[in-house]
Amino acid sequence: MTVIMKAKPIVAALTDELSTSAAHVTAALGRKPGLTVVLVGDDPASAIYVRNKQKRADQIGVHSDTLRMPATSTQEDVVTAVQKLNADPTVDGIIVQLPLPQQIDADAIINTIAVDKDVDGFTLSTTGRLWNLPKNSPEHVGPCTPLGIMAMLDYYQLPVAGKHAVIVGRSNIVGKPMAAMLLNKGATVTIAHSQTTDLHSLLLTADIIVAATGRRGLITASDVKPGATVIDVGMNRFVDENGKKRLVGDVDYPAVAEVAGAITPVPGGVGPMTVNMLLKQTIAKAASKIQ
Ligand code: NDP
Repeated sequence: MTVIMKAKPIVAALTDELSTSAAHVTAALGRKPGLTVVLVGDDPASAIYVRNKQKRADQIGVHSDTLRMPATSTQEDVVTAVQKLNADPTVDGIIVQLPLPQQIDADAIINTIAVDKDVDGFTLSTTGRLWNLPKNSPEHVGPCTPLGIMAMLDYYQLPVAGKHAVIVGRSNIVGKPMAAMLLNKGATVTIAHSQTTDLHSLLLTADIIVAATGRRGLITASDVKPGATVIDVGMNRFVDENGKKRLVGDVDYPAVAEVAGAITPVPGGVGPMTVNMLLKQTIAKAASKIQ
């Protein structure tokens, strides 16, 4: 029987865990844990993501603010805004919603965020910390999507130590930090990307596959070793032959689910984990201020 790794039961458990810890912080600090999202410009998808974060923050008991800045903002405007938030003691976590308008250097902005407020886990300090953790460290550090995947593997009690994990995708927000986290837990890790030759043969050696490419249908049933754990990070939106809007991952889900030992669906798999990890990090940053 294939384990379908849905986010729903984990999110339900996290609702209790995060609400309790947020309430504890609120009692101790006399204010809720605070998250500020910097939103530059009017990208409609970003506006939806920000609304969803805000809604979940409200449910958990985290105070969330959005700092809206015009699309014409300069690099200096955004740096100054982030620096102000760094100095504000009621702000525990800062995220800068990506993408930023073209005239803005996103890396420079992200690295303006103080490391003790970096709840997205994208700054160089945080990613450096992640790669320097002692092995098997329980520390919860790094970008939220791979943190969410580690929480899913843990919840569904899927073994990591000693397994061969093949991660397809080498981005700084998913592929590379995923590799660091799996390595810390004792997996032997291979990172594949668009220049990898013979991805198919490589995937057949994997006990754990993490697909993070944004390429619909990249991973098929013939790529997967029977019993492997398949984590699908991809989010690909398209209109099907019946004119229906659909969201799928990078994995041919119906066929791969027949072969895999465990698999994440899209939607309802990795996606909902990210925002919960973001709030978990915000509460932890606030909790670290309790005397
Ligand atoms: P990027 O575009 O930054 O990276 C994609 C990676 O996939 C690159 O490393 C690229 O290789 C690799 N790749 C592309 N085509 C192939 C191919 N044919 N074979 C092997 N590797 C390939 O994407 P992100 O990491 O930001 O996101 C990946 C996917 O995950 C997207 O669909 C995104 O929407 C989704 N996502 C989902 C999240 C969630 O919460 N569920 C959060 C973040 C992302 P190369 O480096 O050589 O170009």
